Amino acid sequence: FFANVELVPGDPILGLTEAYNADGRSTRVNLGVGIYYDEDGRIPVLRAVQQVERQLAEQSKPRGYLPIDGLPDYTRATRELLFGADAALIAEGRATTTQTVGGSGALRVGAELLKKSLPAARIAISDPSWENHRAVFGAVGFEVLDYTYFDASTHGLDFDGMLADLAALESGTVVLLHACCHNPTGADLTPAQWERVIALLHERNLFPFIDMAYQGFDRGIAEDALAIRLLAASPIRNFVVASSYSKSFSLYGERVGALTVVADDADEAKRVQSQVKRLIRANYSSPSTHGAALVAGVLNDPALRAQWEEELGRMRTRIHALRRGLVEQLAAQGAPQYDFIQRQAGMFSYSGLSRAQVERLREEFGIYAVGTGRICVAALSANNLDYVARAVAAVSRG
Ligand code: PMP
Repeated sequence: FFANVELVPGDPILGLTEAYNADGRSTRVNLGVGIYYDEDGRIPVLRAVQQVERQLAEQSKPRGYLPIDGLPDYTRATRELLFGADAALIAEGRATTTQTVGGSGALRVGAELLKKSLPAARIAISDPSWENHRAVFGAVGFEVLDYTYFDASTHGLDFDGMLADLAALESGTVVLLHACCHNPTGADLTPAQWERVIALLHERNLFPFIDMAYQGFDRGIAEDALAIRLLAASPIRNFVVASSYSKSFSLYGERVGALTVVADDADEAKRVQSQVKRLIRANYSSPSTHGAALVAGVLNDPALRAQWEEELGRMRTRIHALRRGLVEQLAAQGAPQYDFIQRQAGMFSYSGLSRAQVERLREEFGIYAVGTGRICVAALSANNLDYVARAVAAVSRG
């Protein structure tokens, strides 16, 4: 049956980690990942999460099935984290939230919902974007277009290019936007730029699909959700949000995400939610219990929530410090042209390193980065910052 099945090439980013693991040099550094590591190079287990974990272990509750759309304490708390607890659209019953298998699962279920509701629509994603965006939307039959996003000469946003491309899209096109900490570039919109984009989406009747995988990793929980909150306050009546706790709770493997759909009124929301449930039922039937119980346990307990916010704040502050440290060390090594790294947001930086420079970093220094020049700033630490800065400065001298 499988005689003619072709071999799919491995994921280039995961392949990078395999090559890193096989590298015997003690100075090796993996900047290719999409994970936040602490100062000791470990994936942190947050103290607030450990606390709930202990409670759950003591209670040893039976593991029945969750409802198709997930744990209600989890979905309610997620909705409030996205929009703010006192948001009008929550009170009006216009927003429904579904627990999904990570942010990726939210993108997939959201893509399937939109393909059913808007069968003729195309989707536009930023150029560049997280590579899986193209794969997920392509897999459910969307034609995927690009809109201009990044300006390689400034290492920042090409806002005029973005506006021009969005304005040229056909009415009804779905537009995927990163709420904050753009992956892979680290270039985000200012509040004033978000207002312009949202006005344009409304004017041109474009459908917003927001992906928020890094809430709290740049400025703060409310600040990083600004795009979502501006949309909620805008005349736009329909949009969806795919969100993830992989990074903000450091729960990558627990696969905790959510799909939130905003409808015109409570009745429409109910009908849309019934469709979401049908899609999930025919896919994985219902989500898993543990990760959602951890997140709900933290978010719904005021003391643990305060502790989580503090821990999240520390991860955010440390990323800012690493950016600053890298820029300073690079300048000290004679490479001041990398000052833009400090203006970029989140875990990633589009460093501007060429494919050849990335290759030299790997071969000569055992430093692994994505071929596009994307580096994960959150994989730096005081132990490797100096080494990485020296190496980047060396390959930048040619
Ligand atoms: N969207 C973006 C922009 C991401 O960077 C990621 C993860 N790296 C995701 C979605 C998916 O998140 P999850 O790991 O929760 O599936």
